[in-house]
Parts: sequence; structure tokens; C-alpha cells
Amino acid sequence: MIIPKTPKLSPEQIKELRDIVGEFQCSIQEIVGAGQNVYAIVGDERHELMINRIEGLSYVDRVDTIQSPHKLLDIRSELRNHRVRFGGVELGKELLLIGGHCTISPKEPNLFYETAQALKEAGIHGLRGGVWKPRTNPYSYQGDEKALEILMEASVRTGLPVNTEVMNEEQLDIALDAGVHMLQIGTRNALNYSLLQQVGKRIAQRDTVVLLKRGRHMGPVNEFISAAEYIVNFGNPNVVLCPRGTLPGLEGYRNHPDESVTPLLRERTWAPVVVDPSHSVGKAMYVESCSMAAVAYGADGLCIESHLDPVSGLGDDPKQAITPDAFKALAEKCRAIWKLRNP
Ligand code: PEP
Ligand code: MN
Repeated sequence: MIIPKTPKLSPEQIKELRDIVGEFQCSIQEIVGAGQNVYAIVGDERHELMINRIEGLSYVDRVDTIQSPHKLLDIRSELRNHRVRFGGVELGKELLLIGGHCTISPKEPNLFYETAQALKEAGIHGLRGGVWKPRTNPYSYQGDEKALEILMEASVRTGLPVNTEVMNEEQLDIALDAGVHMLQIGTRNALNYSLLQQVGKRIAQRDTVVLLKRGRHMGPVNEFISAAEYIVNFGNPNVVLCPRGTLPGLEGYRNHPDESVTPLLRERTWAPVVVDPSHSVGKAMYVESCSMAAVAYGADGLCIESHLDPVSGLGDDPKQAITPDAFKALAEKCRAIWKLRNP
């Protein structure tokens, strides 16, 4: 819908609009209002170049489009009945719980195996474990590929599927070859469109799931959904949206907790939402409240950093990992909230 700056457009201006949209196989329908005429674009409005050319006209105030920029992930798309499955859970049918270390220490495999076993006993459905780590400080521990073997061994020992973050194509191939079940695209790469496309291409022939974190500087909700559309576009619709807090942070928390974005995502997309409260708040003591809020807002699952002995962990674990016991207690409360929402 084209909203002009003036109450109505001149015949010359309407002709100019018709010429532009005609190039994109669209036409213009004038809608006469009491004090203001508006001009509907009839046809496929998703041509970005067409919209940009119209928005560049001096007499146009703005263009409001009705069609979704993310046709596959749109709530009205034919994929709306697609259900993502992970760890024996069909998302939407039961609260999905993923837990594990921020970072797996290759020097202490038993620590991860023991955490994994404790999480399994606590009823968690899938394991997370950082192999390659995106670190703000170049001198911080950057991860180690040797940890991948430990992650996969923990999967064999517990029977639980695993999630790990990849940051480039080489890691993507290595993780897929190793049999990682869920790829994590972290907050720093959420807008790395060439990586998102490579992920989409590589998983197209597999049943791998992708957990796409919300970019820490992301603004409009559509920006997040469109990033996921880059992945789904190649044929595998197993994508999960993961709010994890944005910047600038709320004083006292690591980030600005954004679990409240979930109802907005729900309205626009069928993709499930799994919230990461750990990176949102950044301190173990706030993780339970953030988890309960996330489920109250409609999250389908939670991905939480958890460690049997957080103080001896690497990366974020000493400050934000919760113990498997704390995870179990949190899970009970969150399941109760989930049931209130899904009677
Ligand atoms: C993580 O999951 O450990 C991580 C680094 O995530 P994020 O991309 O949300 O910072
Ligand atoms: Mn972390």
C-alpha cells in the first residue's frame, strides 16, 4: 500500500507508479478515501527493488506491505504444520530441555560425561557443549576441536542428542561429519548471511536441527525470522529460534533479557522458540526466574548452561552455569507453567 505525502496523486505521478510496478508484473489500484487517497499494489509485493524505487519517489511518504518477507516461515505458510523434533520431543507437545557446559574442557572429559549423566537423570532431553567458542577477547580460551569427540562420546553414553555451535564452514562440515544433531548459530553470526546459507545447503539432505540465536544487536522481529528463512530456504525446515538477550544489557544482567519477544514470534511464524536464559541474564542466580518467565511467555523449550561443578568450568560456566540438581528443580517449575499454558 502506497501512502502519498499529498491527499491524492496527480495523473502523471500515478502513471510513474504504474510504470514502475508494471516492470514487476504488478498494477496499481487507487483507493479513494474521505481526505486521503492510497494506492494498493496488486500482485507480488515482495520485490525489494520495486519497493525501494517507490519509496525513493519524492511524493511518497511510505509503502506498507502486506505480504510477509519470510514466505516459508510465515505463520500462514504451507510449512505451518511442520513439527520440529529433538531428543524424543516434538516441539509444542512437551517442554524441551537442553543442558550442558558452555565449554567442554578437552583436558577433563570426565567432567562432561558426569554432567551429561546427571542431566540425563534429571530428565533433560538433549546436551549442549561448546567445542569452538566465539570469544569477545582474542586472548580468552577459544575452544578446541578435541572437545568434539567428548561431546559425541557423551551422546553415545547417555543416548541423548547433542548441540554445538559452529562459526564457519570448516567447523560446519566437521560437526556434521561427526554426527552433531543440532547446530547452534550463535548471536554473533545470526546476521552472517553467507554462513546461514551454507548451513541451509549442508543440512538440506539431513534431519539436523538448527538452533538460531537472536542477534545481540537485532532490532525488528522480522530481522530474526528472515535470518532463519535463509536456512529453511534450502529445504530443511528444522529451525528453532532462540532469544538469548540483546545489547545494551540491563544493568546487573549480562544482556537485556528478551524472552518477551516470544509472543511476537508466535504471531508471525510457526517456528518453535527455545529460550536461552543463561546468556540473557549471565548469572546462575537469575537463571531460574528467567526460565520461568520464558515459559510463561510461551517458549517451547529452554537451553541452559549446566555444569556439575561450575567453579571448575571454562568460558561462561563459573558465572552462569547451574547444577543439574538446580536444573531439575527449575524443570519442575517450568513444566508446571508450561502445563498452565497448554492444558
Ligand atoms: C554459548 O552458547 O555458549 C554462546 C557463546 O552463545 P551466544 O552466541 O548466545 O553468546
Ligand atoms: Mn556460553
